[in-house]
Amino acid sequence: MATSATPLNTDALLGVYRPAAPLFVGGEGSYLVAEDGARYLDFVAGIAVNALGYGDPDFTAAVQEALESGLVHVSNLFRTRPAAELAQWLTEHSFADRAFFCNSGAEANEGAFKFARRWARSTGGEEKAEIVAFRGSFHGRTMGALAATDRPAYQAPFRPLMPGVRFVEVGAVAELESALDAGRTAAVIIEPIQAEGGVHPVPAEFLRTLRALCDEVGALLVFDEVQVGLGRTGRLWAHEATGVTPDLLTLAKPLAGGLPMGAVLLTERVAEALQPGDHATTFGGGPLVASAALAVCRRIGDPAFLADVARKGELLAERLGALALRHPSRVADVRGAGLIWGVELTGPAAEVVGRALDAGLLLCSAGANVVRIIPPLTISDEEIERGVGILEDVL
Ligand SMILES: *Cc1c(COP(=O)(O)O)cnc(C)c1O
Repeated sequence: MATSATPLNTDALLGVYRPAAPLFVGGEGSYLVAEDGARYLDFVAGIAVNALGYGDPDFTAAVQEALESGLVHVSNLFRTRPAAELAQWLTEHSFADRAFFCNSGAEANEGAFKFARRWARSTGGEEKAEIVAFRGSFHGRTMGALAATDRPAYQAPFRPLMPGVRFVEVGAVAELESALDAGRTAAVIIEPIQAEGGVHPVPAEFLRTLRALCDEVGALLVFDEVQVGLGRTGRLWAHEATGVTPDLLTLAKPLAGGLPMGAVLLTERVAEALQPGDHATTFGGGPLVASAALAVCRRIGDPAFLADVARKGELLAERLGALALRHPSRVADVRGAGLIWGVELTGPAAEVVGRALDAGLLLCSAGANVVRIIPPLTISDEEIERGVGILEDVL
């Protein structure tokens, strides 16, 4: 058996990732523990996935109980209680009337595109199939989601992608007006805060215009809250702060507390276009992941939990703002909401991310010059202060 003394051979893993050096063997709260005993304060949280941090008792109990029932998976040929209860929770706590479960963020967006096209075809015919997406967007790496992702370097090696996607600049109303067409546009997809693209909150005013224009041409509005939904902004849904309601909402990252799960939430008007057999996924909404997600949603949905995230978000915003003022030659901008922040540097983010790792703080980037801060939502005030202190040291 391999022990900690055995060097780890990672050559059999496909080289599409460039993982950092530490080999993690455990987690506690907001800290990850490496094989050599080193502890790292985690401002990444598995890329905004581990909303409850590591070793959360509610999450652990829910998963244990589900395992002990023996029901990990039964397929969607049969009914189980957790998926039904989770769908009920999500619809009771959102604009939506129905939920569809899948296994990742990309898959949730693929589902949203299919649902939108199915609906558009039934209302507007064959030609009404186009998706409008935005510059700076990220919606995932599968062929449809990638087609709506504004990253030429991610797209180029894999063309042809899904056809029928058109990109518009965020904030460009005239360009949006000419892109939208009643006979052609099925849906518009946008992240209320562009996360991977550098943590850019989309102005509420633009989202209101977008909503009005979608209604005018009979196109569906899809909000991708895969990263910023479920409490990250200090509200249950990121779009709540904008006063704009979508027709479809996609979720994934924090939904099942680290187990793979995605969801598409939709209104009855859209759901009516979908019939049995129109879409499916073998693993979607299985009892193990749905039980974990119920525990996560109940915790995050507690108004006291959300208020605490909002309060900690203000503390983090204040500390980052002060740091930016002290280092104007290093920090170009600080943007975000709740517990998702981007610190735009005047130089490469990778260098700061690397030096923070050496100093015991996990950070990630969002584009070449932006350091992204997405800690567990359960992080303490002291941990926020400590992490920002380390960031300032390495700057
Ligand atoms: C991460 C992310 C996705 C893709 O999710 P995967 O689970 O990696 O497929 C899609 N949209 C947004 C906004 C994301 O942040």
